[in-house]
Amino acid sequence: MAKNKPKIIILLGRSGSGKGTQAKLLIDDFGFDYLGTGDLLRERVKENDFSGKKLKQEMDKGERVSTYYVFQLWGKAAEKIKEKPNLKGIIIDGSPRSLLEAELMDGLLDWYEWENIKVILIDISPQEAFDRLTKRRMCKMCGRLIPWVGTFKDLKVCDQCGGELIERADDAPAAIRRRMDYFKKDVEPAIEYYQKRKRLIEIDGEQSIEDVYRNVKKAVSKV
Ligand SMILES: [Zn+2]
Repeated sequence: MAKNKPKIIILLGRSGSGKGTQAKLLIDDFGFDYLGTGDLLRERVKENDFSGKKLKQEMDKGERVSTYYVFQLWGKAAEKIKEKPNLKGIIIDGSPRSLLEAELMDGLLDWYEWENIKVILIDISPQEAFDRLTKRRMCKMCGRLIPWVGTFKDLKVCDQCGGELIERADDAPAAIRRRMDYFKKDVEPAIEYYQKRKRLIEIDGEQSIEDVYRNVKKAVSKV
């Protein structure tokens, strides 16, 4: 593998697996760039035009957002990242979510000549994911997400700003169940695809955040 080329880390995992937290830790430690589908979509929704409204509708229902549209956003974001001097690596979060998207993603990575690629799956059971998602809360003031793990369960107000804690709108049980259905139907074939290509590293996501991160770092050092 070309050592001077950026490391590409694709983070996969169910909603609630804590992969967003792991992405942040990696960015802080390694100075990687971040390409997150969720962020790109939320940014796009703000424009509140035809596509913005349609995306919001799909997201509220917990549906898998149109592959066609997601990949337009990815392409634009990748173009910008490619121009950065001294690019160390990229954390790809929230895609691919299907076999088709995995193949499209390969096309994108090929195009930009990014070839040091590993796929890290933060693995948690469906039940664990459901519990974490139905009990997760968000601060109304600063937007901080409070995970349903450890001592966070006892918080009555935000531990950073004292704001009121509310249940997150996209975490309604029906939407969660829909996301779980498409994980099984669509995301799992993408995971198998990476397994066949020997790019997949599986990490037990039901350990503490620190232990998960220790394993993630070990995986990244091998890229
Ligand atoms: Zn807060």
